[in-house]
Amino acid sequence: MEFGKVTRMLSSKLNDSIVVYKSAENPGYVYKFYRVKDNEYRCCRCKELGKFRSIRVVDDAVVGRKNPESDHHPDCFPLPESCVHAAEVDCEMRSDIRQHGKRPREVYNEMLGNVTKRFRSSEQQVNL
Ligand SMILES: [Zn+2]
Repeated sequence: MEFGKVTRMLSSKLNDSIVVYKSAENPGYVYKFYRVKDNEYRCCRCKELGKFRSIRVVDDAVVGRKNPESDHHPDCFPLPESCVHAAEVDCEMRSDIRQHGKRPREVYNEMLGNVTKRFRSSEQQVNL
């Protein structure tokens, strides 16, 4: 079964490609998936939330039995289409504010925490 086409884009953080799937349930919103191997892609947002939600992409179309929009982490929402090309962090920050009613300050602090964590882990990798 085929669920529709994806758009490819390059990620600044990951060396591999990202595909963007337009949500049919929420028009104007998209899910981003990053490539794991071969035809397997995983949801970017789910990954941050600690869940692996993968899809199969063949010839730029999502294939499989399961709708690519179902079975995501309960806190995983598609991103507004307009911010797909914006900086990733900034975009997720804005969607957090709207969807979870968080105050900008709170989100900003969370983001700083995440950046620090990422920095620490990459530093450790360099030292290994
Ligand atoms: Zn997801």
